[in-house]
Amino acid sequence: MPKPPLRLTTRIHPSPPQHARLHHMWTTLLAAQHTLTAWLHHRAAGGTRSLLDFASGHGPVTAGHPRRPARALPPLDQLNAEVRAARDALGWTPAVPPGALRWMTAETAREWRAAGQRRPHGPLPGPWPPSRAPELHLDNAVQVLDPVTLHLACLDADELIPADLYLPTPYWHALLRRQQRRAAHERARCDTLEHTWLDAGDGKAAAELLTRRARGGPWTELPWPAVPDALPGDPVSREGTVLRWVTGDGLPGRWVAEWTFGTGDVMAPPWVFDDVLGVDLGYHHPFACASGGLSTLTPRPFRGSFAPPPLQASNARTAPPRHGAWARARHRRALFLRLRPIFEAHLDLALQHRAVAIEQVAWGGFARRGFPFASYALDVGLVAWLAWLDALATSHGVRVLRVPPAYTTRTCSACLRVGPRPASGQPFRCVGCGYSAQADLNAARVIRRRGLAKLGRP
Ligand SMILES: [Zn+2]
Repeated sequence: MPKPPLRLTTRIHPSPPQHARLHHMWTTLLAAQHTLTAWLHHRAAGGTRSLLDFASGHGPVTAGHPRRPARALPPLDQLNAEVRAARDALGWTPAVPPGALRWMTAETAREWRAAGQRRPHGPLPGPWPPSRAPELHLDNAVQVLDPVTLHLACLDADELIPADLYLPTPYWHALLRRQQRRAAHERARCDTLEHTWLDAGDGKAAAELLTRRARGGPWTELPWPAVPDALPGDPVSREGTVLRWVTGDGLPGRWVAEWTFGTGDVMAPPWVFDDVLGVDLGYHHPFACASGGLSTLTPRPFRGSFAPPPLQASNARTAPPRHGAWARARHRRALFLRLRPIFEAHLDLALQHRAVAIEQVAWGGFARRGFPFASYALDVGLVAWLAWLDALATSHGVRVLRVPPAYTTRTCSACLRVGPRPASGQPFRCVGCGYSAQADLNAARVIRRRGLAKLGRP
């Protein structure tokens, strides 16, 4: 049986005008969905107008002889044809790429079918609520230009979006291989057109070449970094990229790009240790881990502040440097690349355990206490690591246990007594039983005990 695709998300940083464009895409798509839903109700009530006529108020309200109400949904091909016929006249394109409209149509059809199966004579589905989280399905219309730059086919050629493409190495390579193949294909196509134009005097080829180059810009000509060939079992990029607006996890609202990977027929190795690994994430020690037979404490692999320093204007000019957003993305990526080997080693370690216990981190609480742990965790990739773990755990048969975060640093992992919080850099010492341990390791052991309790084990 083919394995389900794996989805990994990375954070992207559209500028305020780009954010407005993406948001406009979503509100237009939502309006299109409302129109489609209203038309499906019209059809279900016996109406016979086309989607375009219905939405623009043209055509007879009913045919000469009213039809019997038809609750059955038209086939998806027909729905897509109706949307295609209406999309230009109703202004849905070019605001929304055709792929996003196709996804909206398919998703609406799926919801109607599901509602019909649940309650054949129940109420028909209503339109999507305005509160629905934006998602733009852009298939393969998102291009990686360099390790921190994305281009969306639906934006202008020079509208580039800085991105934190934080992926485990095999997935990063898979993404690069796919992008490289696309770039090589495009270059070959342009070479052929150039020959056809210059050798055969073909004006059409010259025109197509110019358009392609104008669309792609100089990035299509840049060499890509060398990427090792794929081995059996390596993930394969399927693109199928979705942009989502994510809120509600205590972190600031943000756009993310979700990438789809095929993971082939090679089975992921199942867990080998029948134990719960407690993992404490932190600033000075990105990881403290504890299981029945293991304690590890990993120091931060870089010095100095993670926060980007202010951009210095040169004396010659007063305007801020043009590529500030790109430079900040490279700045963050440098931190991530220092941490990536540690992230990958801890991902492997976690996936070897039957279960992994992690705090249900209250990100918002850090910001309220004036500690920038949430932005640190986003910038260096700790948040990405948590998402990697969630995405990969299922295929390894590993359970991720989110445990309450209260007092993990103040609780004794030996007797569970809550005492004072250890001062920064000081070990934990229990005032009850005298137990003493490095503070982050004690927290990891408390987290592990809470994970064990969730599994009903002592
Ligand atoms: Zn104690």
